[in-house]
Amino acid sequence: MKSSSVAVTGFRRRFFSGVSDRQWSDWRWQLRHRLRNRADLERMLVLSAAERSALERSGGGLPVAIPPYYAALMNPDDPLDPLRRTLVPVVGEWQGGVGEAADPLHERRDTVVPGVIRRHPDRVVLLATGVCASYCRYCTRSRLVGGRERLTGHWEGALTYIAAHPEIRDVLISGGDPWMVSTRRLDHLLTRLRAIPHIELLRIGTRMPMVLPMRVTGKLVAMLRRYQPVVVSLHATHPAELTPEAMQALARLADAGIMLAAQTVLLAGINDSVAILRELFQQLLCNRVRPYYLYQCDPIPGSAHLRVPVDAGIALVERLSGEVSGLALPRYVIDAPGGGGKIPVGPVTWVGREPGRILLRNPHGQIFSYPDPP
Ligand SMILES: *Cc1c(COP(=O)(O)O)cnc(C)c1O
Repeated sequence: MKSSSVAVTGFRRRFFSGVSDRQWSDWRWQLRHRLRNRADLERMLVLSAAERSALERSGGGLPVAIPPYYAALMNPDDPLDPLRRTLVPVVGEWQGGVGEAADPLHERRDTVVPGVIRRHPDRVVLLATGVCASYCRYCTRSRLVGGRERLTGHWEGALTYIAAHPEIRDVLISGGDPWMVSTRRLDHLLTRLRAIPHIELLRIGTRMPMVLPMRVTGKLVAMLRRYQPVVVSLHATHPAELTPEAMQALARLADAGIMLAAQTVLLAGINDSVAILRELFQQLLCNRVRPYYLYQCDPIPGSAHLRVPVDAGIALVERLSGEVSGLALPRYVIDAPGGGGKIPVGPVTWVGREPGRILLRNPHGQIFSYPDPP
């Protein structure tokens, strides 16, 4: 890595002083040295009571995993630090809320063969793996990631299913995080998918460019570009994730001609403000990443403390739409409980009808009349 942020440099000096640049920039070294439990976290962060008691509960829950690189971006003294809240559990996770479910989107029901979720005729989600570099506390697949469900040895069956359905044109490789798979094995998977004549588009969903940008090696990028068109859909949460390291990773992907899109989950106290979202979306765009979806947080068990009321989400989106380019504005969606798919929600802009005209409301609340052809 060329340069790194001041926070990262100070953190390295303090906790990993004997570690060479080469080790620090090696994604496998970062994975091996992830913070996994209370003892690891306590060494580097001043834990709050809510964090400590969540970490003391053992077994059954969503695992904890934080690469040292990402831990370096967290404020060690502030439990409300936004990046910290995405990965460090709090007791709220153990408190059930109304309407919560382990599988709110009914993905199990829409699983056609192990690891393939199909809700649309033309595109499927392929869960390449069940593991991630880090575990987001609001993960929509918290039911299965991090070893909570078995997800191995299913690729052959998935490929057979996709090959047998010529109406599928688009495969969204997700997980878990597909980039946890070695570049060699991923290369093999993409070769097999590209050998299926009806597959037009390959998409890969990952949070690695934000939590572990070291994963974006020259070798990974050179491999990916052999399978174009490839869209990398990255999970970005907060503008503080756009460090020099992350920006370099995005530039490598963009320079290889890989289309970049971003998905963001709206999270209470983490990114639910106009200023933060504006900065995130604008900076993503400047790094050649098109903000694609802003998700309402799914009602997984223990998510109440992270979910924003939909009315508040719509108000945020309305204010944003008056302030940034349409290119920087993702579509705000609710992935419908019960498997209805992503449903856009947003400010009401179509407010009435007059003879031969419709009435429209702009983001500033002004009403305009448009002559509607009969
Ligand atoms: C999100 C999703 C897709 C992809 O939807 P796009 O709107 O094309 O990005 C496909 N299948 C499932 C099951 C999904 O959840």
